Amino acid sequence: MVKLKPRPCQSFLLIGARFFYWKEGGCMKNWKIHKDNDWLMLETGKSINGKVVITSSVHGDEITGVLLIKNLLADLKKLSTKLGVQISITPFVNLDGIKETLREDPVSKKDLNRCFFKRNPPKQVRKLKSLLSGASFVIDIHCFPHTKHALTGLLFTSESNKEISRINRNAVTAFNPDICWSLDFKDLDKEKKGSMGEWLVENDIPGIAIETDSPEFLNNEDVVDISKKIICTVEVALGKSISRNNNISSLKRFVVKAEQSGIFIPLVQPLQHISKDQKIGKLISFDLSKVNVSSSVSGRVVFSKVAKFVNKDEKLVGIGIK
Ligand SMILES: [Zn+2]
Repeated sequence: MVKLKPRPCQSFLLIGARFFYWKEGGCMKNWKIHKDNDWLMLETGKSINGKVVITSSVHGDEITGVLLIKNLLADLKKLSTKLGVQISITPFVNLDGIKETLREDPVSKKDLNRCFFKRNPPKQVRKLKSLLSGASFVIDIHCFPHTKHALTGLLFTSESNKEISRINRNAVTAFNPDICWSLDFKDLDKEKKGSMGEWLVENDIPGIAIETDSPEFLNNEDVVDISKKIICTVEVALGKSISRNNNISSLKRFVVKAEQSGIFIPLVQPLQHISKDQKIGKLISFDLSKVNVSSSVSGRVVFSKVAKFVNKDEKLVGIGIK
């Protein structure tokens, strides 16, 4: 592991063959930069009272976390000193995927967030698992590209692990998202198995994931607001603060997928209440025929893809149901 010393005014981090310019480099002061080929990790503080890990872009086409982390560095440094915790951040878990705007890792062709229980997972997952081991709390940042998304906290629960479920519920409540999506891994379909969240629960490590708007829909105020929520969540999760929010109602997620390829035109917005059979969008084919997209359930819109071409089976609209 190579340690580079950041300069207080302006730091240049060489990643692969490219430069990332972390201007306003003052906020990088006191962060140790670990670089191992294309794997970047930032670290600050001593783990007197535990270790917090923040991860972003395990899906390469989801880059909101990079924006949030950039905004959070100075406050996380202060928080680390205040709480006596070590904070480790991996902003670019799937760097090859980021460069190619791909969800999967282009080298292994795998969705890294489905490989946590594989015998020989891709190298990024091996590194993540060693970083996450022994963590006191984890936040994994996601978003959907080209999608307007209600600020969502993912609550990982387990019937067989009541303590982890309690800590995670407390943390999501502190994060106070617009939507809380509850995931008990025993109920999951096979296609969602093997995620970091499931692995954390199995290994008794508290943690939440968050889903945000695609970065183009976040203004400065949104970034500041989500950043404050992250700081508050860490404090509450480590038992150093009590959540101002008392309770949060959690929803399951139902996803409407494209029945055929075509140009999708959405007709709903995040947080909108919709009824069963309501028209939520339309798909226009290249022969100009039109298919209405409707929801087979009633609930609240969690996310909606923007108007764009979509392939058959692509996720169009997510609906939170009780
Ligand atoms: Zn994701």
